[in-house]
Amino acid sequence: MAITYICRYCKTQMGSLETGAVDEFRLGLQFLTPGERRDIIAYTPDGGMTVKVVCEFCREALDANPELSLVASPLQ
Ligand SMILES: [Zn+2]
Repeated sequence: MAITYICRYCKTQMGSLETGAVDEFRLGLQFLTPGERRDIIAYTPDGGMTVKVVCEFCREALDANPELSLVASPLQ
């Protein structure tokens, strides 16, 4: 099972890890609501998982221009 992290805004792949089983507690995913899980986690056809995060570059851009998040992510 591979977990891939991508930036939800610029789609940059930030890293991936291979794991025998997804440890959702280690990933902190247990804190997410079902809606957030649908928004953040995507399962790939090969049984892997994609987790959408925010990269450093986009984080800084959002901090500087908070209104960008409204455009890029209508659910928030
Ligand atoms: Zn980014």
